[in-house]
Amino acid sequence: MRFSAKNRSKWLEEMAGEKLDLLVIGGGITGAGIAWDAATRGLSVGLVEKQDYAAGTSSRSTKLIHGGLRYLKQLEIGLVKEVGRERALLYERAPHLVTPAPMMLPIYAGGTYGKSASSIGLWLYDRLAGVKKEERRQMLSRDRTLEKEPLLTSRGLKGSGLYVEYRTDDARLTLEVMKTAVSNGAKAVNYAEAESFLYEGEKIRGAHIRDRISGQTYAVEARQVVNATGPWVDRLRQTDGSLSGKRLHLTKGVHLVVPYERFPLEQPIYFDVPDGRMVFAIPRGRITYIGTTDTDYDGPIDSPEMTAEDRDYLLEGVNHVFPEVRLTPDDVESGWAGLRPLIHEEGKSPSELSRKDEIFQSPTGLITIAGGKLTGFRKMAERTVDLVSRRLSEAGVHSFTPCRTDQTSLIGGGDLGSEGFARYRREWTQKLEQAGVEKDRAEELIHLYGLHIEEVWHRAGKEVQSLLRAQVEFAVEEEMAVTAADVLIRRTGDLYFHRRRCEEGLDSVLDWMAQELEWDASAREQRRQEMEREMEKTHPQASAAV
Ligand code: FAD
Repeated sequence: MRFSAKNRSKWLEEMAGEKLDLLVIGGGITGAGIAWDAATRGLSVGLVEKQDYAAGTSSRSTKLIHGGLRYLKQLEIGLVKEVGRERALLYERAPHLVTPAPMMLPIYAGGTYGKSASSIGLWLYDRLAGVKKEERRQMLSRDRTLEKEPLLTSRGLKGSGLYVEYRTDDARLTLEVMKTAVSNGAKAVNYAEAESFLYEGEKIRGAHIRDRISGQTYAVEARQVVNATGPWVDRLRQTDGSLSGKRLHLTKGVHLVVPYERFPLEQPIYFDVPDGRMVFAIPRGRITYIGTTDTDYDGPIDSPEMTAEDRDYLLEGVNHVFPEVRLTPDDVESGWAGLRPLIHEEGKSPSELSRKDEIFQSPTGLITIAGGKLTGFRKMAERTVDLVSRRLSEAGVHSFTPCRTDQTSLIGGGDLGSEGFARYRREWTQKLEQAGVEKDRAEELIHLYGLHIEEVWHRAGKEVQSLLRAQVEFAVEEEMAVTAADVLIRRTGDLYFHRRRCEEGLDSVLDWMAQELEWDASAREQRRQEMEREMEKTHPQASAAV
């Protein structure tokens, strides 16, 4: 069955019609990774997500596949090693979504890292994270640094380090993992909320799932249940009556988007801001984005928003190190706020809290996975499914094969690998350009879809003017997009990276989705208002209101 929004009810009926080996609650990167791993080992697996896939933290990150330089400072050596290995693996498995980008680390008198500490730190980082020889760090003199990045203030500048980070699109990566899970037999449904649990005696045996589109409720039975709901994990532990011991500590992180011409950086940069924290600024096509903040959060989990204070903190940080840029609130065209689901440690500030993941097992049998990073999702999934698999074989269900996701490709990357993708990208950019697609747009599309660009182009009838419509159809029929926001935020990234295109395309997107999904006028209006609220949220609220 296709992964289409039109098949959501059928997927839910199928899920409710059998006893699953595993029910995963939460469709962010953590849940998607678990569904992928479990499906490739042969488990029957269902996944439910109460919003859209990746609508929680997994579309609101800095969008980096990190080697984890900052963990080195906290001496989390094991974590640096693990994420470094994972990064290399992902680059080969999903090369369209993972792109190397040299990051500059400017060194200032009195800054976080001194010159020799930076040099030794980056050297060690390269070794621990298993960085390829040609991508190892370079240390630059003060003059060379200013030549490479003329916008930096020269006051107190001592030089810089250049090291390789990898850029990604977090929401598309999550979708890609979800689609790969589905292609391996998993069943996944968005806008499907786990409202309460089913028990047999004291043991958890599934959940009541409410379809938030039709209002219908389904009883989904499963031998094992995993709570992978990121910032919401404690809510589900509470529903299960097992919220005790360690708890989550939510911190909010905000990113701002400004037009590239207002902050024309030569490369991504990781720099000190006046309060001693460090912030990224990352050029990406026609925009540059800046982030992040890291502040304790106890507001509503479903809708974290950026405040004027968050915005001003980031703008001041940029203006301090890039004094000629003089960014003002009027330059901000978009942005996003996300919540880090970290594990509480007494007496630690937000930035000091570990980014490590941890598994909690409740007396009812509910397995909760909390903490972690986008980058480490595959390993987190492996640990979780190892536990599920062990429990299933102890219960005499069957034994399953060990984890295989380190040998399997993601669906849009196929067997290309990073070198094959470079060739494929050249070939397809040329093909699309010859048909009249602008080079930047062609490259953007190839990175969004990988091998599936061929299907999108086919759906467009090989006509440039039909591309957006083809993207909408593909999103609905092959990627379960249900609302305009699903398309314009998480399938195309337009709200963040192409604000004008997003605003100009909204009416057409609504019309096409109305045709595809048979919306009446009031459903279309509801989806329009929803998208408008999302567009408003990208501009900060006054601090006092939050
Ligand atoms: P989520 O993505 O939040 O997914 C949980 C899902 O569960 C949600 O979609 C939610 O709707 C769903 N859910 C909740 N309750 C229910 C229910 N009852 N029924 C069904 N579904 C439910 N990591 C990196 O590797 N690189 C980075 O550059 C990076 N930058 C970051 C920057 C910021 C500002 C933040 C906040 C995080 C960053 N991270 C980064 C960390 C990374 O984004 C997170 O660790 C990761 O996205 C968490 O994914 P998750 O699936 O656990 O949670």
